[in-house]
Amino acid sequence: MKIYIDGQFYDECDAKISVFDHGLLYGDGVFEGIRIYNGKIFKLDEHVIRLYESAKGLNLEIGMTQEEMRKLLIEAVEINKKNDGYIRLIVTRGDGDLGLDPANCKKSKVIIIVADIKLYPEEYYLNGISIVTSSYRRIPNECFDLRIKSLNYLNNILAKIEARNNNCLECVMMNTEGYVAECTGDNIFIIKNGVMKTPATYYGALEGITREVALELGRKNGLNPQETALTRFDLYNADECFMTGTAAEIIPVIKIDNVVIGEGKPGLHTRKLIEDFKELTK
Ligand code: PMP
Repeated sequence: MKIYIDGQFYDECDAKISVFDHGLLYGDGVFEGIRIYNGKIFKLDEHVIRLYESAKGLNLEIGMTQEEMRKLLIEAVEINKKNDGYIRLIVTRGDGDLGLDPANCKKSKVIIIVADIKLYPEEYYLNGISIVTSSYRRIPNECFDLRIKSLNYLNNILAKIEARNNNCLECVMMNTEGYVAECTGDNIFIIKNGVMKTPATYYGALEGITREVALELGRKNGLNPQETALTRFDLYNADECFMTGTAAEIIPVIKIDNVVIGEGKPGLHTRKLIEDFKELTK
């Protein structure tokens, strides 16, 4: 594995960063998780745009153009000879001192790791996954805009621990007003009476790239997708439910808090969307 750090590729054992990097000290930085299918980077432009928008949200200068970043990502995949896999692209505030002031960090640091992808067990795609709702609320917009894909995932991690404690791999988080936001690392959708719905991002959801793909597929399939407000009631009473994410792709949800969703198995529309997504990534 060859890992890119700040202008150079290193062997895994030599890929090291300073303990004074503010990405480590304060979670000050942004990242992307990106898929490689058949040697091609999936939704490369979209991921690079989101990275730069996240960075802008944090007043973080990346130090290269989007075009240069795209070329660098392609180079990283080629050097690692990866046909199918996962890219973790990270930009940290860079090295500073122990104070939190980013003004003391002279230069941001770009890190690119090209790895194998870790998927949910195949069984979940066939039979669906059970999730729970988290008691932790998503951070409100007046505190932090969650469209910034930042290196600080502690809100999500606490919810992930809660999911694990409930013998689940994922859980859905509400915002402080009780509206559904998203899962710890995935967006969430329902289908009710033939209409596909997902929380609008201002309820506390990341603008997921896979979410965007699912919305597009929903339009093609006549599901009239809506970005709207959903509560726990809408989830429990959905005909179908699924999550989307770069790693998860599209994964059917069959139980939430032990409440059976629809018929308790992956629904017709969800299975069609999964098929369509497979076609896109062939
Ligand atoms: N929400 C959160 C909190 C995420 O971290 C992610 C990415 N893992 C997603 C949603 C899904 O976004 P994408 O489809 O771009 O991977």
